[in-house]
Amino acid sequence: MKILGYDYTVSYLPGVKEGGADASGFCTVEKQTLKVSRDQVQQCMESTILHEIIEVLNRHLSLGLEHPVIERLEAGLYTVFRDNGVDMSFLLKDLENYTGGENIT
Ligand SMILES: [Zn+2]
Repeated sequence: MKILGYDYTVSYLPGVKEGGADASGFCTVEKQTLKVSRDQVQQCMESTILHEIIEVLNRHLSLGLEHPVIERLEAGLYTVFRDNGVDMSFLLKDLENYTGGENIT
């Protein structure tokens, strides 16, 4: 996935840790990686990737957004896109090792 021209590797993992705690996703700007927990349904994975994209933009563009603001932007943008017919599954197309739908319950 390209973000601001940078190539990010998006991985789909059985468990993601951030600071030792379970997380739905995690990004490392220095390594250009996004990691997404596979222990969630498809909509949550899509929303998680959107969240990590906002995190990357926050870092690269020095936006200075506090984490609660990033969470609100994630929820707001995700629902606006979804409720207006945008197929958010495009966010999953770059997931390594993702076969699609296996965690939809
Ligand atoms: Zn975050």
